[in-house]
Amino acid sequence: MGRQILEIKNLKKNYPGAFDLSIDSFSIGSDTTCVLIGPNGSGKSTLIKLINLLEEPDEGQIIFNGADILKSGKEKPLYRKMMAAVFQEPLLYNMSVYNNIILGLNLRKIKIKEKKQVFDYLIEKLHLEKLLLRNPKSLSGGEQQRVSLARSLVLEPELLLLDEPLANIDQLSREGLRKDLFGVLKDMGRSILYVTHDRNEAMMLADYISVINKGKIEQSGSRADVFTKPANEFVAKFVGIESLIEGIVIENKDNVCRVKINGSSIFAVSGFCPGQAVTAAIRPEDVTLYSDETVGPGYGPDSYSKNSSALNLLEGSISAVQDFGFFKKIEVDCGFKLISFVTANSIERMGLMAGKRIKASFKASSVHLFEK
Ligand code: ADP
Ligand code: MG
Repeated sequence: MGRQILEIKNLKKNYPGAFDLSIDSFSIGSDTTCVLIGPNGSGKSTLIKLINLLEEPDEGQIIFNGADILKSGKEKPLYRKMMAAVFQEPLLYNMSVYNNIILGLNLRKIKIKEKKQVFDYLIEKLHLEKLLLRNPKSLSGGEQQRVSLARSLVLEPELLLLDEPLANIDQLSREGLRKDLFGVLKDMGRSILYVTHDRNEAMMLADYISVINKGKIEQSGSRADVFTKPANEFVAKFVGIESLIEGIVIENKDNVCRVKINGSSIFAVSGFCPGQAVTAAIRPEDVTLYSDETVGPGYGPDSYSKNSSALNLLEGSISAVQDFGFFKKIEVDCGFKLISFVTANSIERMGLMAGKRIKASFKASSVHLFEK
């Protein structure tokens, strides 16, 4: 990460009897998209409001562009003008869509002429051409949010804050708006804090991800790190890791651990030492299933390969099949529960059903270990 546009230190906010937000450290790099994910009620909106100076913290620092904005006194409005925020509910006024979009520019005394290029660009990309003369009251929820987004984006703020802007939009409009919005956000390449409870959105958009739970940041890191190397069980479950298996490291050769689990063992690329109790996290899409009729991989769990391509091959029986529409979630009992996602096509080809004996494979490099 290059220059930080925002840095938060020891920020605390208490809602008496209800909630404690306590952020030791959190930062956003310039020109990067940071996605803050967490369940409902975890403090995402509270953090956004604190950054946007809509709420006052009990203590801590918010350093924006190098200055502690909580101590900025009279300059606070100036800092607020360097940010723009969009919330779940579009907040539009009883005037034309065009006037709503240029409202922020007017308030900041920025000439429309200066922003003509970005204005035209946004109108096109967010499909607002035909709506400019309409009153927002006559628009659908999705269209209203497009207007709200255009009003903030046209400002080209130093920091753009987006608090679940797609959460209240019906599914069909949401997919279209998500595609248009994410395209624009990537194109404009600004410093962005995007808040969501939807890990798919995080996966699509984020450079960096922070996971928040009960008012505390559980993990911050690159998108790949958070999705594949979760720091703990909460993050693992939140980013969709289905198999969480407890075991003990019994051997480590060249950073490939053998982990004992019940009567079985698996290989994992990791630096843990023998004797350490760990949890093994395996993403469902990294687990491949083979029936006896289909040809499996060439070497099994006893081949202790020196490199990270060491392969785990286990046998078990299918203990549950759950329907998820386009794919099914298969639970294999191989001494422990291993979850795989399989397409309807593969299910049919392999005749997968509860009780069937099956082989499952995954690379040692697909197994992430964290301390139990
Ligand atoms: P999220 O955006 O992650 O869903 P919020 O930041 O909105 O969560 O809320 C976190 C917690 O703080 C919730 O339990 C909520 O009820 C509480 N809360 C939020 N705003 C206030 C407030 N103004 N007064 C009291 N409690 C609040
Ligand atoms: Mg919220």
